[in-house]
Amino acid sequence: ETTETTRPFDAEVGRLLDLVVHSLYSEREIFLRELVANAADAIDRRRFLALSDESLALPEDASIRISVDKEARTITIADDGIGMTAEDLASHLGTIARSGTRAFTETLADAKPEERPSLIGQFGVGFYSAFMVADTVEMISRRAGTTAAHKWTSDGRGGYRIAEATRDTPGSDVILHIKPDADEYLEPVRLETILRKWADHISVPIRIERDGKFQPANEGTALWRKRKSDVTEQDYTEFYRHLGHMFDQPWATIHWSAEGSIEFSALLFIPGQSPFPVTEDDRESHVRLHVRRMFITDDAKLLPGWLRFIEGVVDTEDLPLNVSREMLQSTPVLARIRKALVNRVITELKSRARDAEAYKPFIEQFGPVLKEGIYDDNDHRTEIAALARFRSTHGDDLTSLDDYIARMPETQKDIYYITGEDPERIKASPQIEGLRAKGFEILLLSDQIDFFWPERLATYADKKLVHAGAASDIFEAAETPAALATLTAALKSALDAHVSEVRVSSRLTDSPAALAASGAQPDLALQRLMRRAGR
Ligand code: ADP
Ligand code: MG
Repeated sequence: ETTETTRPFDAEVGRLLDLVVHSLYSEREIFLRELVANAADAIDRRRFLALSDESLALPEDASIRISVDKEARTITIADDGIGMTAEDLASHLGTIARSGTRAFTETLADAKPEERPSLIGQFGVGFYSAFMVADTVEMISRRAGTTAAHKWTSDGRGGYRIAEATRDTPGSDVILHIKPDADEYLEPVRLETILRKWADHISVPIRIERDGKFQPANEGTALWRKRKSDVTEQDYTEFYRHLGHMFDQPWATIHWSAEGSIEFSALLFIPGQSPFPVTEDDRESHVRLHVRRMFITDDAKLLPGWLRFIEGVVDTEDLPLNVSREMLQSTPVLARIRKALVNRVITELKSRARDAEAYKPFIEQFGPVLKEGIYDDNDHRTEIAALARFRSTHGDDLTSLDDYIARMPETQKDIYYITGEDPERIKASPQIEGLRAKGFEILLLSDQIDFFWPERLATYADKKLVHAGAASDIFEAAETPAALATLTAALKSALDAHVSEVRVSSRLTDSPAALAASGAQPDLALQRLMRRAGR
């Protein structure tokens, strides 16, 4: 039957539409993302349902087709998806059923007007975003497995109409009647540019009509969703280059999917070359979050800062496409994904670290960033310390803490290190003479972060980390020999303003005197650093 009467929108839809249409001009182009995502979802759903009902089977060449009619001023997005019945049209497009969208609407309503465009740009508002560019939207849909088609029409204000229609095959056509001020979208080239940004990795073929012919508009390779055995080294490398705008080879490629309580696919790359100077201000991870293949944001901090050099994609089924910023910050789904990602990366590094030669380039590129984790990451501090490599007085090769400990003579109880900006100078420092004379090895730490993490770590494998320059009981003479007492007293009075104490020590072998920090103070190099930073 034909329903020519206009039905009102659900109150929430009305509110959302009002926000969408009135406050979101700068991010209008996302309408295409939303509509293509819906079309891709509908195809995915049909494919899934066809698994148990053959009559729903997708046509071989199932696709999403986008065409422009400049004269009629329309854009049509057609799909071979599952389609909708009249009831579906009324309930899916007339109400907001999903709590995610409701929460998002609330966030949007509370946000300052100038913040709204970026909110919507990141998360979208689904189907209704069509009204940013169209003054009338039609949806002609035929549910797979049925012959009847229906047309839903709305001007995005009061409500919508549903009428009978015809459609040769199951699927949907969304027809946008473009607003006078949105002419730019009537150019297929413009639409193609928008698609390029994010649609490449939608696995359903997307085609755009140009000069009477439908041309592919996406590569259709959601590489991360493929099985490892179906992906070549070359595919990985190309994707890595595309993702990180790099030209080299990844040092490590980590590709897996997690199943069980939380489902996601992840494809992570550890670059061969650092894409940024390690001192860069931006300390956040920009691993991309996808939901059902659609790019959502690269701002979800999927990895901790100390793994910010990793490039990649994480794709989950367990979040709605319209996930809000608030939700990204608070959802346990992401917290669990993050945890799984860090653990997986640590496992990979552990296994790669067994080959010292192959591990070295990684340490040279990212060692200093990695060590930030010893300082920052309460959960993984010790594991990260085990992965770090250091210069030491043992030789020219880098050493791990474990190897250092294995070399410790029985008389040595603690792990000794010295910090300083110049690796050659610290190696020659009088502060380590005595320790070396005893046959003890000293870690030579000369990265900025080295001034900070040893105190945080405090112990490793039950051994204390001790700064070679800190007053250490192993060297102090029980009592100052009489012959030297006059000298220390004289030195103390001469240097009174600068030192708290002058002690006799067996710390030195070649040098007559050395400065030492007293136990409670930060070490000398750090003191110098802090003075320079004006602290
Ligand atoms: P979401 O995609 O997050 O569910 P939308 O507002 O984008 O939210 O779409 C609302 C609903 O309308 C979808 O969940 C789906 O049921 C239906 N829908 C939208 N577009 C299509 C389409 N092309 N084919 C089939 N169903 C669709
Ligand atoms: Mg949608």
